[in-house]
Amino acid sequence: MDFDVAVVGGSVAGLQAALTLGRARRRVVLFDDGRARNRAAEHVHNYLGVLNPAPGELLGVGREQVAAYGVAVRESRVTDARAVDGGFVVGGERVRAVVLATGLWDELPEVPGIADGWGRSVVACPHCHGWEVRDQPLVQVGMRGFPERSVARALLLSRWSDEVVLCTDGDELTSEQLQRLAAAGVGVRCERIAEVRGTEVALAGGERLSARRVFVVVRQHQQSNLAERLGCEVVDGAVVTVGGRTNVPMVYAVGTTTEPALLAIGAAGQASTAAVAVHNDLLDSDLRGRG
Ligand SMILES: Cc1cc2nc3c(=O)[nH]c(=O)nc-3n(C[C@H](O)[C@H](O)[C@H](O)COP(=O)(O)OP(=O)(O)OC[C@H]3O[C@@H](n4cnc5c(N)ncnc54)[C@H](O)[C@@H]3O)c2cc1C
Repeated sequence: MDFDVAVVGGSVAGLQAALTLGRARRRVVLFDDGRARNRAAEHVHNYLGVLNPAPGELLGVGREQVAAYGVAVRESRVTDARAVDGGFVVGGERVRAVVLATGLWDELPEVPGIADGWGRSVVACPHCHGWEVRDQPLVQVGMRGFPERSVARALLLSRWSDEVVLCTDGDELTSEQLQRLAAAGVGVRCERIAEVRGTEVALAGGERLSARRVFVVVRQHQQSNLAERLGCEVVDGAVVTVGGRTNVPMVYAVGTTTEPALLAIGAAGQASTAAVAVHNDLLDSDLRGRG
């Protein structure tokens, strides 16, 4: 085998898995095609030990760290992964184990202008970007057709500011939902949204709501179908794992590939735990047959 482990995906989870495995003296190759989920954002917040770096800056340090332990980094997309005798072929390399760290992409509400501001004036996660705009006027744009989620996100956001307005983009809400929003002090507009321009939300009737930040509801999807190609179980868009192990022996999934809601530091933390499991499984296989 060329390497012990192929890590596919080199954002926080993949790099952390590679770091833990490199330090365990495993021969690791890491593939990444540069589409970290937060790449449009200006800063990574809520990550202990660093002061809100740019996403690329954080990953750049991670790349330097893994290189110091001999991890081979390939800046390329893996389009095929398959089982062969004694292991797998991933991106043309023969390996004993595969770690999928391929992450997610975010489907945004279909409202003109939202994609233009994504990661800067338009964000999704209050835990990531709420503190910076606390106590200021905020608009929560819902995902049309998913009113439950829109309401839940507006209620969450209301803990960061008393001036939150939920725009449902045409979804009507039940009286119970309206009561809960009112109790949390959230304003509600159910008209269609014409466009979002920067941090201004234009309603279909022509009225414009100004906010300090626009939060949106997103739907998440796997960035890669390698898990399915390798025979891994995928439920509700997440690769099913126990401690990072999938149902396919020697195939692992880490970070948001397996737990979509993880913050960046959670993705890295989960990946380090899973990498220890990879190392232990390789150790078992190293020692098997040696009496
Ligand atoms: C706009 C935005 C802002 C955010 N801000 C914050 C924040 O401030 N704080 C915070 O904690 N969290 C934040 N998050 C969440 C954070 O981005 C995720 O928790 C984190 O990126 C998850 O890391 P990951 O390694 O699991 O996957 P990802 O970051 O999605 O990375 C997956 C990697 O795999 C690569 N890849 C995928 N398929 C292949 C393939 N076939 N071959 C090769 N490479 C492949 C991609 O190029 C990518 O680099 C934000 C998210 C968004 C969308």
